Amino acid sequence: MLIQFKRWITLFTCTFLFASCDQPPPLHHETFFILGTLVEFTIADTPEPTAQAAILAAKDEMQRIHTRFATNHSEGETAIFNQLPAHRPFLFSSEEQQLILQAQLLQSQSQQAFQITLGALDQLWGLSQSPMRSTPPSESSIQQLLPDIDCLEPLANQQWQKRVASCQLDFGGIAKGYAIDQGIKMLKAHGIANAIINAGGDMRIIGTKHGTPWKIGIRHPRNATKTIAAVDLSGDVSIVTSGDYERFFIYNDRRYHHILDPKTGYPSDRAQSTTVIADNATLADGWSTALFVLGKEGLPIVEKYGMAALLIDHDGHLYQNQRMDSMLKTAQHPPSLSQQ
Ligand code: ADP
Ligand code: MG
Repeated sequence: MLIQFKRWITLFTCTFLFASCDQPPPLHHETFFILGTLVEFTIADTPEPTAQAAILAAKDEMQRIHTRFATNHSEGETAIFNQLPAHRPFLFSSEEQQLILQAQLLQSQSQQAFQITLGALDQLWGLSQSPMRSTPPSESSIQQLLPDIDCLEPLANQQWQKRVASCQLDFGGIAKGYAIDQGIKMLKAHGIANAIINAGGDMRIIGTKHGTPWKIGIRHPRNATKTIAAVDLSGDVSIVTSGDYERFFIYNDRRYHHILDPKTGYPSDRAQSTTVIADNATLADGWSTALFVLGKEGLPIVEKYGMAALLIDHDGHLYQNQRMDSMLKTAQHPPSLSQQ
């Protein structure tokens, strides 16, 4: 009887161990409302207390960046600079200066499609605020605030000034990516090797999901429940999508959204969505906005700078550059439509 009982115990323990060895430990998920969006942290293969401490540190860091770069945080450098009159030197912190320089590089590489000095125009359109505007501003007010490409003047020692008062900074096209990068830096500093930070669809992933790549879906711009493609990502890489479906209003059957063409002052009408895969989220975020303004002609430019990209144009046709093509083939999820 005793022997039989021992045997039963052994069998039970083995079965239990087998089951627990076979199944990977659960993923650790947490979601917060920061950066004006839902930010989801997913961590794999990490003890719960380590994951929790890492997520809290990353979240605090991302919130700090938001305060510094958002135009509506009165204590942030961006908001203070925006209030200044023309020709008043302002000393930026080195962090802010770095992001300005990165944005300016992107501005020239994207043939001025990306501009961080369209803050006044962005305010006029009121699409980044709540409540949002529901009618377009007048043509004359748009023309008055069209950003001058050189309106931000560098002085010595991290000081900058505006050439005109309407030259206002708007980091909305790049700051979320920078915040994600800093969040990942925090996770790594806490020893996390396998994770995703997903800020409203803008992501950076590290490592794997229990040894296999993370599978990332790219959403359909006109149907939030559908994906247009999926890609397998592992290592350390970022994927960011910009779309005309996030913040928009319809007026006289026309869609007005939050990505502005600095040449016209109006929302760009060349795309419904753009997705860029790059080494980090700052680049992917900035370039997805820039590509949105450039339209499909921008795909070879993104290719030239070593990034994968796809774009759904205003008619719903899908185009992708060669790098994206090879990534989607590897992922065995070739998209159905035409290729650039
Ligand atoms: P989201 O913030 O919804 O993820 P994007 O990354 O494409 O979308 O950024 C859109 C934001 O970028 C706008 O709300 C505005 O603040 C800013 N922006 C709009 N047009 C441009 C542009 N041409 N260049 C740089 N920034 C832009
Ligand atoms: Mg962007």
